[in-house]
Amino acid sequence: MDFVIGADDLAFRRDMRAWIGATLPSEIATRGRRGFHATRSDVESWTRRLNAKGWAAPAWPEAHGGTNWTPLQRYLFQLELRAAAAPVQDQSAMELVGPVIYTFGDEVQKRVHLPRILNADTFWCQGFSEPNAGSDLASLRTRAVLDGDHYVVNGQKTWTSDAQRADMMFALVRTDAEARPQAGISFLLIDMKSPGVRVRPIYSIDEGHSVNEVFFDDVRVPTENIVGEPNKGWSYAKFLLTNERAMSAETAHTRADLLQLKGFAGEKACEPLFCAKLSKLEVDLMALEFAVLRVLHAEGGAQDAVASVLKLRGAELRQRVAELGVEALGNVGLAVNPDPTGHDATDHPAARPPGPDHAVGWLARSMFRRATTIYGGSNEIQRNIIAKAVLSL
Ligand SMILES: Cc1cc2nc3c(=O)[nH]c(=O)nc-3n(C[C@H](O)[C@H](O)[C@H](O)COP(=O)(O)OP(=O)(O)OC[C@H]3O[C@@H](n4cnc5c(N)ncnc54)[C@H](O)[C@@H]3O)c2cc1C
Repeated sequence: MDFVIGADDLAFRRDMRAWIGATLPSEIATRGRRGFHATRSDVESWTRRLNAKGWAAPAWPEAHGGTNWTPLQRYLFQLELRAAAAPVQDQSAMELVGPVIYTFGDEVQKRVHLPRILNADTFWCQGFSEPNAGSDLASLRTRAVLDGDHYVVNGQKTWTSDAQRADMMFALVRTDAEARPQAGISFLLIDMKSPGVRVRPIYSIDEGHSVNEVFFDDVRVPTENIVGEPNKGWSYAKFLLTNERAMSAETAHTRADLLQLKGFAGEKACEPLFCAKLSKLEVDLMALEFAVLRVLHAEGGAQDAVASVLKLRGAELRQRVAELGVEALGNVGLAVNPDPTGHDATDHPAARPPGPDHAVGWLARSMFRRATTIYGGSNEIQRNIIAKAVLSL
């Protein structure tokens, strides 16, 4: 396996950088650089530009609208996107439900949903976790009972990212209460505008709003919205969760943060203790980047335990870079800039702190990143998986 970036890939990277620079509106990039979640309209506008170029979902098979780039080229593209502070696309759609639909969905589901995902016409949210079903996901209780050509859904989901702006939810629901826990679950696509769906915000420690509780009260979902076979949802969820963990390494984000941090660290970077932390972070990140590249080059992508290693380490590095950013900023990094409307209100003068523009968002970002070692399966759970699968403990 050869990880050297050759002349062709360097040229590819230059072209990507030039195209992104010429296409990404500067006001969108400015909001991205401030470190908050992207607004829906920013995501829509950026995804549509990518889609017009055929680049909305480079990792998808070409037959479904992807590219035939090599894994290294896809990774270089991600690095350029993050370095330019382009909005992160709808990951629930692009990275999670999209691959489930083109792998397990029927022809109608593919025809209806995939083009809408590629053009950001439909935003999605992930309805897996419940108040008593997080790490122990198989104990979920939201029920879907067959009634003619509909399922009737009752129950509650929690921690649902972006439910407040989503058009559709992909949910795990219990369709057989008698079967053993994993065997009675189905994978259902639910229209968030259906009568009986209620979304209630959860405000997080960064004073922002991206997570929610979602309640279902006799929500009627057509049976054609079930993906694959009834009661087989657990195996589709496992496929999805492995993808989620593999993408959670998020090294392109951490690399972009690190570059930004080194740009403003100034004299702080020369202080021995800070310099040692910065150097250690850089070396650890480089090691993780090579691990990610190795997985990208491997046949079949990340398998369970490998994905867990990437998730675990990537989550820790995302936290460390944000904490170091706050430390580097000193006093100007102490203000939390709340995002009271849920998504980026920092263009409003009142939301701006005293101090330089690059300071906006770092403390909020650092606080929100407490969640990286929780979501997508907590790091304790990933350690259990590694202990069992790799170390045979
Ligand atoms: C910001 C954020 C966004 C999220 N977005 C979504 C979303 O969009 N959709 C969605 O479905 N979910 C989402 N989640 C939920 C997330 O996946 C769960 O929070 C996560 O799986 C942990 O579950 P829990 O919160 O129920 O914690 P619990 O499972 O109750 O765990 C509590 C603690 O106990 C530890 N623990 C539990 N079991 C074990 C064990 N067997 N061995 C060792 N330690 C253990 C855990 O690691 C953790 O530290 C999100 C969470 C956050 C914080």
